[in-house]
Amino acid sequence: MIELLDSHAHVDGPEFDADRDQVLARARAAGVRRIVVIGAVGDPSSAERAVALAERDPDVFATVATHPHDVEKMTDAWWATHERLAVHPRVVAIGETGLDYYYDHSPRQAQQAAFRRFVELARRVGKPVVCHIRSQKEDATRVPGDSDAHEDARAILRETGALDLGVVIHCFTGSPADAEAYAAMGCYVSFSGIVTYKTAGALREAVTRVPRERLMIETDCPYLAPIPKRGKRNEPAFVVHTAEVVAAAAGLAFEELAQITTANAARVYRLP
Ligand SMILES: [Zn+2]
Ligand SMILES: [Zn+2]
Repeated sequence: MIELLDSHAHVDGPEFDADRDQVLARARAAGVRRIVVIGAVGDPSSAERAVALAERDPDVFATVATHPHDVEKMTDAWWATHERLAVHPRVVAIGETGLDYYYDHSPRQAQQAAFRRFVELARRVGKPVVCHIRSQKEDATRVPGDSDAHEDARAILRETGALDLGVVIHCFTGSPADAEAYAAMGCYVSFSGIVTYKTAGALREAVTRVPRERLMIETDCPYLAPIPKRGKRNEPAFVVHTAEVVAAAAGLAFEELAQITTANAARVYRLP
């Protein structure tokens, strides 16, 4: 039996309130047995909801943090919630945290400070870090000197000792050279539905630069549904389509890609 794993899903969100149980059942029916729910959107009620989901379903695991978009709003109470939940046995990682220089919803300095503090929390509880990294420009038009979230992120990951904990670069959208640089540092590189889009040739090239023991896949649902579901609400069952494209790009059989990416996610998140 082929088993896939959605390594990054926001099924705690309101988009799934009406049919969450059916969404999880459809995932299982599609061979997506385990799901990592990222409790990091908006205020820490997302983290609380992710942990609650993980408590009631043995195949669901949670992460906790505040997304780089929202770190400017963080209060002491938000940090206290994350510190309390970080030690929870169903919490398998700290994240998503990182740098988003594309939207700049929070000032870059605030993003960098929160990123460092979340890595510190991860070190304290001995859990891996899930990173959201997006540069102002992600494509070949980027030139040296452009503010580069990936370069800043790699410096922070090195300086903070995050690499010893296990690092996932989620929804990777950087250049093939970025993918290679992350993998060389020992980071896992996770591809979302974006890799299926017609214009994403550079991302499919990036897949070839990641050694198979560092490859991961995810939905990042409800966003970024892969082709042929593009434009619809995304859900964990759809990771099958991303797996097909990543397998083709990597030159692997679908079964092999499924086995490898599931094992990689289970290893970095230390799933039972
Ligand atoms: Zn993200
Ligand atoms: Zn996400």
